[in-house]
Amino acid sequence: MPGASAEATGGGATAARERLYVDNAASQALRPEAQEAMERAAGLLNPAGQYKTGRDARRSLEDAREQIAELLGADGAEVIFTGSGTEADNIAIQGLAFGSKAHRGAHVIASSDIEHPAVVESVDWLTAGPLGLGFDRVVLPVDATGRVRAEDWIAGLEGSAGEPSDLALLTCMWANNETGAIQPVEALASFARDNGVPFHTDAVQAVGHVPVDFHALGATTLAASAHKFGGPKNTGLLLARRDAEILSPVRGGGQERKLRSGTVNVQGAVGCAAALASSIKELEQATAKMRMARERLRAAAQGIDGVRIWTPEVGALPGHLHMSFPGAEGDSLIMLLDAAGVDASTGSACSAGVNRASHVLTAMGVPVDVARGALRITLGADITDDQVEYLASILPRVVEQARAAGMA
Ligand code: PLP
Repeated sequence: MPGASAEATGGGATAARERLYVDNAASQALRPEAQEAMERAAGLLNPAGQYKTGRDARRSLEDAREQIAELLGADGAEVIFTGSGTEADNIAIQGLAFGSKAHRGAHVIASSDIEHPAVVESVDWLTAGPLGLGFDRVVLPVDATGRVRAEDWIAGLEGSAGEPSDLALLTCMWANNETGAIQPVEALASFARDNGVPFHTDAVQAVGHVPVDFHALGATTLAASAHKFGGPKNTGLLLARRDAEILSPVRGGGQERKLRSGTVNVQGAVGCAAALASSIKELEQATAKMRMARERLRAAAQGIDGVRIWTPEVGALPGHLHMSFPGAEGDSLIMLLDAAGVDASTGSACSAGVNRASHVLTAMGVPVDVARGALRITLGADITDDQVEYLASILPRVVEQARAAGMA
C-alpha cells in the first residue's frame, strides 16, 4: 500500500488519498491556504464594476496582485493575471515578437528545442505557421545534460556582426518540466538586456520551487502557473516590464494593461497569491526534504541495469527524477506503477493519447528507443519515508515486467 498513511502528496494538500501521487510537475493538489482564500473570495463579483461590489472585488484583486509582486520581485503593475501558463507564454511570445517587428523591424526568434509545447507551438506558429507571419528561427543549442549552451551561443552570435539587432525575441525556460534542469536564464537575460532584445522566460516549473526574482533577473516577461505550486488551475501569471513592447494577440476589453483582455478571475488570483505565499514560506524545508527523497530514489534507480538518469545531480529542481529504462516502454512503466497505486508519468506531453519519444530527450541527443523508456517522478513536499521506500522497492520489479512486455 503506497499511501496507507498518506495524505495527498502535493505540497500540503488536504484530501486523504490511498494513492502515491508523484506527478507534481503536471499539477499539484490545491494547498489549504489557497482553498481557504478562495472560499473567502467566493462571493466577489465583477472587479471592473463601478459600484460597491465592484470595488470590493477590485480591492481583493489588487491585494493579490501586490502580494504576488512582492513575492516575485516585481511591481504590482507588472503582474498580469492570465487564464493559464500556456496563455501567458502565448501572449509574451507572440506579443513581444509582434512588438519587435512593429517597432524595430526585427524578425528572428531564438529558442531551444527543449521548451514546453506552449512555447514551441507559439514559436512554430510565428516562424513556420500557415499564415507566413514573416519570422525566422535560430536554435539555441542544448548539451547532453539538457542545459541550453547559452555562453557558446552568445559567443557565436557576437562573432557574426550585426545579428543581435535582427533578434525580435530570445526565449528560454527557467527549468525544464521533464528533466528539472535549471537553465542559464541569467546569462541570456543579461545578453538580451545589453543588446536591447526582449527576453521571455517560461518559469512555470520554477515559480514556487526555486527562488525567483523578476527584477534581479532582468527579463522582459516571465510566465508562471498557479496549479504548479498548489494554486487553482486555469490561473496563470505573466510578469511584464512596463516598457515591454507587447502587441498582445488577446484582443478585447483591455483588462490587465490591455495584455490579457477578459473579465479577471478574482477567486483564481486570490488563490494564486495564497498558494505562492505558502509555497515560498515552506520553500527551504520542502527543498531539503524533496532532495533527500529524490536522492534515495536516484540510488534505487541506479541499482537497475541499464538505467539512464536525465535529472542532473546539481542544478535541477528538487523534486524531479527523470530517467529511462532502455528495453521498456514508458507507457508500460506508468501502467504498472498505476496498478501498484502510484501516479507517475513519462514526462512528455502525449498527443491524442499516443506517447511519443520525448522531444526534450531527443533534443539532448538521446536515441529514440532509449527516450521511449522514460519515467518522470516528481515529488511533493509531504512525501513520507515509507512512501519513498515503497517506491524504491517496487521500481526494479516494475522495470523488469515492463521490459518483459517489450516495446510496442
Ligand atoms: N510551461 C511549462 C514549463 C510547463 O511545465 C507547463 C505545464 O506543464 C506549461 C508551460 C503550461 O502551463 P498551464 O498548464 O498552466 O497551461
